[in-house]
Amino acid sequence: MSEEAIAVPNRPPAANRRVIPVHLMPAEQQRSLAGRYAWQIKTLCWVAFVWAFLGWLNDAWLFQFGSPMWLNRYTEQAIILAFGVWRIVAEKNPYTRKRLIILVINVTVLWWLIPWAWPFIEPHTGYLAGLPAFPALHTPGTITFFLVMTAVFLFGRRVICGWNCPCVGIREVVGFPFRHAAHVPRSPWAWRLRHLKWIWFLLYLGAMWAVTRPANNITSGFLGLFAMLVVLPYFATMLLSPWLGNRGYCRFLCPYGATFGLLNKVGMFRIDYTADSCIRCGKCEKVCDMSIPVWKMGLAHQGKVDTTECMGCGRCITECPTGSLAFRDVRNLLQPSLRQDRKHLLRRVDWRRMAVRWRFAGFVLVMAGVLGGAMHYSGLVGTLNELPIRMGAICGLPVISW
Ligand code: SF4
Ligand code: SF4
Ligand code: SF4
Repeated sequence: MSEEAIAVPNRPPAANRRVIPVHLMPAEQQRSLAGRYAWQIKTLCWVAFVWAFLGWLNDAWLFQFGSPMWLNRYTEQAIILAFGVWRIVAEKNPYTRKRLIILVINVTVLWWLIPWAWPFIEPHTGYLAGLPAFPALHTPGTITFFLVMTAVFLFGRRVICGWNCPCVGIREVVGFPFRHAAHVPRSPWAWRLRHLKWIWFLLYLGAMWAVTRPANNITSGFLGLFAMLVVLPYFATMLLSPWLGNRGYCRFLCPYGATFGLLNKVGMFRIDYTADSCIRCGKCEKVCDMSIPVWKMGLAHQGKVDTTECMGCGRCITECPTGSLAFRDVRNLLQPSLRQDRKHLLRRVDWRRMAVRWRFAGFVLVMAGVLGGAMHYSGLVGTLNELPIRMGAICGLPVISW
């Protein structure tokens, strides 16, 4: 059965049906609730996961068929684009659709087109290890990574996690059949397992230290081990989605998610919860892929859902039938009356508004700037030179030595 079929019980005959704006629909008629899907769809999606894994395996180790696009590290991005178009067309929740559009564009441009068209080692500060290609945001030390951290501090939502990460890209657009409660462990012990990721976080701190040291057997060995401890669980949890849910890696293991989560916590982001209007229906928990006990947490913490786990997908807010939940971030500092609740998130994009056009133009300009910058600097930042040295030469700055 499809997500749509679950979400709309007892539909009246088409002739009597009235078109209701989504934000006014009862929650049970919205489409964020995870549906039960036919085994054929689940199999198709699982095969896509396997294919993405084989692409990485071939590019990293097997080197068969000359590592063509259909079987290399960009295979995952191609799958995200293909399934992404399908999911964007099928998605009925305007906020999720907007997020999927931005996510698929970001992953396609930043994680596929640029590294594929202009392959060069990304700007590191420090040790050049392995194969990272601009803008591999997950690589410790990248400039983009620190820019993203600033954005997370201001806007929260583990910005990358909901809007840019290929991991979420493939798990959102391919892993959707595994969002249902039948696949997602939500017991108290599963909730406790989220702490596992702090082990990976410590390893990550070690990796950040190692990239600033001169290359030797210890730093190289540690970075190689760290890469394997990140990549293998990344794909393992993907293949285990039928048993771990679609966000197993993000929930339990990802060190970058832990980093962004900490910034969520110390930054300006949280979810506000209004106990007076809450009817304890539990929908906010059911739609959360990270299995956050949303309303219970809000009740226990005086109306604040402030957790390292939230990736800001907004499903709990758009699904809450009473509007008891709302995002809060830096925009609330600038505009205290702003309430980013269900109604706010679900409003349709109104292209007649200048602010909307400016935002869209800004997004296009950023993408074009990144494309142009990548093309330009691909010739300047080469595979054998580290950014501080090259940037020193490019900008006439003194060389930084580590
Ligand atoms: S938790 Fe990690 S893998 Fe998951 S979306 Fe965030 S950065 Fe990506
Ligand atoms: S916050 Fe909203 S969705 Fe969650 S239990 Fe309360 S009324 Fe239901
Ligand atoms: S708490 Fe809400 S916004 Fe955060 S991850 Fe869960 S459903 Fe998404």
